[in-house]
Amino acid sequence: MAATSRFISRLTLVTGGGSGIGRAVSQRLASEGASVVVADISEDSANETLEHLQNDLRGQNHMAAAVDVSSKESVKKLVTSIQTRYFQPPSVCVNAAGITQDDFLLNMEEEQFDRVIQVNLKGSFLVTQAVAQALVACGAPKGSIITLGSIVGKVGNLGQANYAASKAGVEGLTRTAAKELSRFGIRCNCVLPGFISTPMTEKVPEKVLVKMKSLVPLGRMGEPAEVADVCAFLASDDSRYVTGASIEVTGGLFIG
Ligand code: NAP
Repeated sequence: MAATSRFISRLTLVTGGGSGIGRAVSQRLASEGASVVVADISEDSANETLEHLQNDLRGQNHMAAAVDVSSKESVKKLVTSIQTRYFQPPSVCVNAAGITQDDFLLNMEEEQFDRVIQVNLKGSFLVTQAVAQALVACGAPKGSIITLGSIVGKVGNLGQANYAASKAGVEGLTRTAAKELSRFGIRCNCVLPGFISTPMTEKVPEKVLVKMKSLVPLGRMGEPAEVADVCAFLASDDSRYVTGASIEVTGGLFIG
């Protein structure tokens, strides 16, 4: 169990919570007392995460939900179902849903480009907007919205024109949201992972991973829990003077 209980009585939403980083974030927030809504395109994987969440701290009440973050209707339905069940919107939201559909620029199909933008960029917009609208409407005094970008959004990556564009996009989205929403007490920040061991990076060819690891000053890939620790910091009042920021969690990859 985490040494602190920063999220007791806090309702939190994690998209992409059925796998990888989203699952680790759900576990981290629950370990500090949060009630977690684990939302994923696959309700089964969200339920699987739910089974591994701590729930013995005061008033914890978790929920799994299916959502397609790229659909406005689906996102609206999710936020409505949260408010129906908890009588409040989540005051912490972590946008961890994401996909890759890699191909070299010269070969990439329009559909591959569009789908990655729809899920990673538009999905982050739709969830951020819906949660912020609900927080503002109920006069909540504070909120923290965290979006998973990527170091690739800053430096580019072979075969990932769509993904890199989507991740650069979420940084611009987050900085703008931070400026617009700070007057409502809502902070918005990005976390930029490098190479983290999750089902997403299992798809990367072994020889590329070996090359990447050799470029990481800390000499290894990161663990989802190491990204979750930074998300928990940004979700908590420990980061109360941080908004519009992007924090790299890369083991030093591409410093400078
Ligand atoms: P992951 O293990 O594949 O988890 C992503 C989750 O999002 C999966 O459960 C996925 O479901 C779900 N998802 C996909 N499309 C969705 C949609 N339309 N609506 C709702 N949920 C959807 O990936 P991860 O590595 O944990 O990545 C989490 C976030 O960190 C992503 O935004 C990713 O881009 C970012 N990131 C990861 C790394 C890394 O090295 N792993 C590095 C930089 C940034 P399916 O499995 O069914 O698609």
